[in-house]
Amino acid sequence: MAVNNKETRVFPWGHDRRFNAYSNYFRNIYGARVQKVSIDAGFTCPNRDGTKGTGGCTYCNNDAFNPSYCLPGKSVTRQIEEGISFHRWRYSEARSYLAYFQAYSNTYAPLERLRILYEEALQYPGVIGLIIGTRPDCIDEEKLTYLKELSKKCYLAVEYGIESCYNKTLRRINRGHTFEDAVAAVEKTAAYGINTGAHFILGLPGETREEMLNQADIISKLPLKTVKFHQLQIVKGTGMEKEFHKNPADFELFPWEEYLGFIISFLERLKPSIVVERFTGEAPPRFLTGTGWGKKRADQIVNLIEKRLEELDTWQGKLYS
Ligand code: SF4
Repeated sequence: MAVNNKETRVFPWGHDRRFNAYSNYFRNIYGARVQKVSIDAGFTCPNRDGTKGTGGCTYCNNDAFNPSYCLPGKSVTRQIEEGISFHRWRYSEARSYLAYFQAYSNTYAPLERLRILYEEALQYPGVIGLIIGTRPDCIDEEKLTYLKELSKKCYLAVEYGIESCYNKTLRRINRGHTFEDAVAAVEKTAAYGINTGAHFILGLPGETREEMLNQADIISKLPLKTVKFHQLQIVKGTGMEKEFHKNPADFELFPWEEYLGFIISFLERLKPSIVVERFTGEAPPRFLTGTGWGKKRADQIVNLIEKRLEELDTWQGKLYS
């Protein structure tokens, strides 16, 4: 770590924030803020359509995170147009956008359909790239070959829902794939030279806090460019909600202060080169069962995490070896 003449620390990711932040990562590449715009392109997923299962993952309710303008009946172009207006009041300085294929499994269709949807998004003025959210079992060589070609013309990332590094948990939440499947998909995607991201849920039932923390070391071994974390929230209308009401003692939801301490310890063990996109989920309170964390927004939470890192004089990767 370098210290410049104003005594400001510069961390290995090239700035003075104490974690490798996603917003800075894009500022470094494009010199300006880049805004993600979500799209629901009408996909389903193999864990819902009967290929792997019909009930879906026990925590899943896509309505809880889909912005209101995202409706599969609208074209990709219209969703981008409405998404840009939706974000403009808050992020007026953004002029570049990433089309975020978010809802369900966005590589779960024949290549020809994917090509039409992705390329429609890229035609929209100001859209500089794609983020494609999917499952580890919804990718193959043909799609990766196409995505690799596309990634030469724009920013492109494939983001896998992994959720946990433990197969006992993946079985319990009915993911319909193993951690080994996830590792294989991540390694294959990264080997194609495609930016590879992953999403994890912290606080899943059946895991001890120590097991949760140990995931920082496991994740650090994967060839990931970006990660997203969110604390387990019990979302209404899900199988997990039923489980929670039946046996609440089985769940140890993180209170905010505990999560803050946990995420600091987690970050200290996380590989410095992995870019962290988010620390928390932001399901609207009307979708949630049980106690939330009050009215803290994701950006306020990031500020609190950075303040605590500063107070403790610690940073992402301090304990990474
Ligand atoms: S979380 Fe993703 S993989 Fe699981 S049921 Fe929902 S859409 Fe399908």
